[in-house]
Amino acid sequence: MSTYFDYAATAPLRPRAREAWLEASELGNPASTYASGRRARSCLDTAREMIAEALGCEPIEVIFTASGTEADNIGVLGLWEATGRGRIVASPIEHPAVAKAVAAAATRGATVDYLDVGADGIVTDFTPLETPASVATLMWANNETGAIQPVHEFVAAAGDTPVHVDAVQVVGHHHVDFHALGATTLAASAHKFGGPRGVGILLAKRSPAPKPVIFGGGQERGIRSGTVDVAGAFATAHALAEAVSEIDSEASRLRELRDGLRARLSSIEGVICHTPDAEHALPGHLYLSFPGAASDSLIMLLDAQGIEASAGSACHNGVTRASEVLLAMGVEEAHARASLRITLGRENTAEDVDLLAQALPEVVRRARLAGLA
Ligand code: PLP
Repeated sequence: MSTYFDYAATAPLRPRAREAWLEASELGNPASTYASGRRARSCLDTAREMIAEALGCEPIEVIFTASGTEADNIGVLGLWEATGRGRIVASPIEHPAVAKAVAAAATRGATVDYLDVGADGIVTDFTPLETPASVATLMWANNETGAIQPVHEFVAAAGDTPVHVDAVQVVGHHHVDFHALGATTLAASAHKFGGPRGVGILLAKRSPAPKPVIFGGGQERGIRSGTVDVAGAFATAHALAEAVSEIDSEASRLRELRDGLRARLSSIEGVICHTPDAEHALPGHLYLSFPGAASDSLIMLLDAQGIEASAGSACHNGVTRASEVLLAMGVEEAHARASLRITLGRENTAEDVDLLAQALPEVVRRARLAGLA
């Protein structure tokens, strides 16, 4: 069995979610009006209500999608379409699910203004929001560094500009109240909090509602056509309810493990930490660079010892590229290619952290001998 430190990539399915999935797995099409369809519909309604309750919104504002990526695409491109296809304001550290949706709008005529980001990976300046835009988008927390962004201030500064918030790394790990936030749309993904992979959630205010990006039978308020996966939605609702009930205890447990690990790894020569202080970061994230060691070597050498972690940035044909997020933070390219993202979660223990803290100095030494690719 490997020791897993890649919770930001995906989290193990919660037993409660598996049970809920099995319970709902035989249900049919929730749009059918006969008895079995009504049973499916009732289960889907329950899931929607549970999610609304967990995230501070109305059930009608919960739209099921097939991934966080799809929820982000609808949020960004759908709002852009709905509000006149004008200017977009975005941060330069968005996940590709948002960044590439913004880029797609740019090829269709949008002008894009990017926000500045500080060396700590936190957006610093909202000046582009002074002029109204079609849509503005900022992630709640960054998937690589774990840096929590000032989303409440961002929404306030946006005024009448509709705002999409990518909360994929945050939902289930940090309290989210959609109405208190005041964003227009918000994206989440079930597999990041112990739900099944392949279920996304888009929270969408009644108005302005995003236009669809795929076309079909008009399910989910016409925002996301396609027959909803009732079992997936039900499993997601149960995973979320459990995750939300554990937020405070898990956050302090993980923060303690992560801060202990950070302190132990600080003795490795040259280590650079890209995760901001505990107050400004998700509790389980630790994003480091070991100058002179290639990310790919670090990951392979750890894997050989049964330890699973990631580079943080995109892998292209098996070669890890310099992280765009680190480059946007002003990190030099060679350091951005020497990154290692450790993300702790629900099943990690103090023994796991010991194992990693003991293995890493030698892994870094050997990766440095191999040099940067
Ligand atoms: N947004 C962020 C911040 C993410 O971390 C991810 C996944 O890593 C996504 C969006 C995409 O979510 P999904 O894997 O459900 O498509």
